[in-house]
Amino acid sequence: MRTALLRASQSRWLRDQVRDRRFVRRAVSRFMPGEDVESALQAAQRFVQQNLTAVLTQLGENVADANEARAVGGHYTEVLNRIQALKLPAHVSVKPTQLGLDLSPDLCLEQLTALVAHAAKVGTFVSIDMEGSAYVDRTLDLYRKLRPEHPNVGICLQAYLHRTPDDLDRLGSLQPTIRLVKGAYNEPASIALPKKRDVDLRYFELAQRLLAATPRPPQPHGFGTHDVGLIEHICHHARSSGVPNSAFELQLLFGIRAADQVRLARAGYAMRVLISYGSYWFPWYMRRLAERPANIWFVVKSMFA
Ligand SMILES: Cc1cc2nc3c(=O)[nH]c(=O)nc-3n(C[C@H](O)[C@H](O)[C@H](O)COP(=O)(O)OP(=O)(O)OC[C@H]3O[C@@H](n4cnc5c(N)ncnc54)[C@H](O)[C@@H]3O)c2cc1C
Repeated sequence: MRTALLRASQSRWLRDQVRDRRFVRRAVSRFMPGEDVESALQAAQRFVQQNLTAVLTQLGENVADANEARAVGGHYTEVLNRIQALKLPAHVSVKPTQLGLDLSPDLCLEQLTALVAHAAKVGTFVSIDMEGSAYVDRTLDLYRKLRPEHPNVGICLQAYLHRTPDDLDRLGSLQPTIRLVKGAYNEPASIALPKKRDVDLRYFELAQRLLAATPRPPQPHGFGTHDVGLIEHICHHARSSGVPNSAFELQLLFGIRAADQVRLARAGYAMRVLISYGSYWFPWYMRRLAERPANIWFVVKSMFA
């Protein structure tokens, strides 16, 4: 089911079939407060009262036009300005292929450099998403170029990739800020661990390594997972190793395990919620369905709602 949904995420035909269906849009709204950035900013403002911080991301990937990629860079610059004006405890997370990586690594680097420099000016941070395995080398390359000059940039690593423990070693001298996730793409067994149990074990091993290595300020490492058992395990390990709560963040997606988000923040953990917005939600939403095929029931239910 997971593989079928991940394959479907790349189907243009299916995207065109479902994009404008009201019941699908209703189901999607469970995972995003709205398509426009204002809805995301308002959600981030509401979170402040619950002691939750935010990371905002505009949905979109594989942009094939340089002007469009530049427009995405311009959009994020405006988002950073809004974050500053509203004094929100928030930063942004960006996909390299949305900033032109498919067109040219130089174009993408130019955009990222401008964004990260602007984020520093307004006192915030930029996180770089990790996409399918074909992009990992190029994305790590961008990070290696950015990080020495810019402490306010972080990168996502995917526990399911066989290469990730070595990538973490190789990044070590940069004192990177890592967001650790399990991995959301359809990868063959030669590239990624096929069994969930092995991915979970690998995640915990990597989490232990991150807890032992503090990144340069301003941003601690983030554990991006909804796996509450794993989160408890990581928090327990941190406590028993004397790692303070301020040394890491828990990061979950908007709309998933919302009660746990509030509970963990109340228990004294730094909790950041990733809020997505934008009209290009189809592949992203299909990946959310693939993570938990039971979510398909939300689509079915909203059909009859
Ligand atoms: C903040 C954040 C940033 C991310 N950034 C990236 C990235 O840059 N690159 C990348 O490849 N992946 C990214 N991901 C996705 C990640 O790789 C996983 O696909 C996703 O988090 C599902 O795995 P899990 O760790 O939550 O655990 P799982 O073991 O998949 O799930 C554990 C439990 O969490 C709940 N759950 C998980 N997913 C869902 C869902 N979609 N809907 C409802 N319940 C769910 C279920 O109850 C499930 O039993 C990100 C995830 C987060 C939280």
